[in-house]
Amino acid sequence: MAIQLSPLPYEYKDLEPHLSEETLLFHYGKHHAEYVDNLNSLIRNTFYDKLLLEEIIFESAQNPGDKKIFNNAAQAWNHTFYWNCLSAKANPEPSRDLLVLIEKHFGKFKSFQDQFTTACQDLFGSGWVWLVKDSDEKLSIMPLENAENPIVFGKTPLLVCDVWEHSYYLDHQNKRSEYLKCFTKIINWNFVEHNLQKSPSIFHISEPQNISNIYH
Ligand code: MN
Repeated sequence: MAIQLSPLPYEYKDLEPHLSEETLLFHYGKHHAEYVDNLNSLIRNTFYDKLLLEEIIFESAQNPGDKKIFNNAAQAWNHTFYWNCLSAKANPEPSRDLLVLIEKHFGKFKSFQDQFTTACQDLFGSGWVWLVKDSDEKLSIMPLENAENPIVFGKTPLLVCDVWEHSYYLDHQNKRSEYLKCFTKIINWNFVEHNLQKSPSIFHISEPQNISNIYH
């Protein structure tokens, strides 16, 4: 059962002027697509072939010899999640309930934004910065290198920023800080709020796709 490239929940040009059509053509159409293609090549005729994408991530994370499979599976998952964290019609801030929760853990909303942006700026090399919910309902910012994914650590991902250079190089070259300013303006807070209801064990890749029609 081949893993499918999940559809982009909007058109390539819809995140302009914040993220260019060219960036999405490469980031989704080349990078994301290649992770899915690589994964399918790696798992063909192996026991991973029968598993859901989340199951492949959990299983391969336990087996150091399957690092290539983990990296491509996690990158496939992370990108789908990332696309759904963005919206062409984003609200500038979360709804009341989510705002209260963020303020409880991070102080003012601006303080959360600053902490999240700093974590994105400070992540050395390639990786992802996540806002996650712990099993005790505590929110925290979790920078992870390369393809790492919080569901492997028993956390529920709420929001992610891709800080691999391919996310911003076409638009901003080396200036990650300029990309982060743009990213902040197009966060899909409805998607973040939706993720609060989830737990890592019930995470399914189909969910972000299904709700994208509602919130974008
Ligand atoms: Mn990427």
